[in-house]
Amino acid sequence: MVRRVLRVDVVHEDGSVCEHRIASQGAFREADCTGRAGWTATCSCGWRASAASRAGAEEERSLHALAHTTAAVPVRTLTVVPTPTPAPCTADAPLAG
Ligand SMILES: [Zn+2]
Ligand SMILES: [Zn+2]
Repeated sequence: MVRRVLRVDVVHEDGSVCEHRIASQGAFREADCTGRAGWTATCSCGWRASAASRAGAEEERSLHALAHTTAAVPVRTLTVVPTPTPAPCTADAPLAG
């Protein structure tokens, strides 16, 4: 089974991941940082969600991780109707012995 990689990143307005060092208040922004626009949670399956806060993004990530977990476990409740085995027709069977 493929292990999913889930990430939470802070992103710029254009959607690129911000890896700039920044103070919690945003006061000491690095010169080449265009500014943080929000948070995004991504998964190696291609899923992506954006959130306004880190907590929100982490919540989205948890929910998505859960979705993968539950998807791995079959939860189908289909009623399996057993196929009746046709009774062998003994009338046409060659007599044994
Ligand atoms: Zn940045
Ligand atoms: Zn995923």
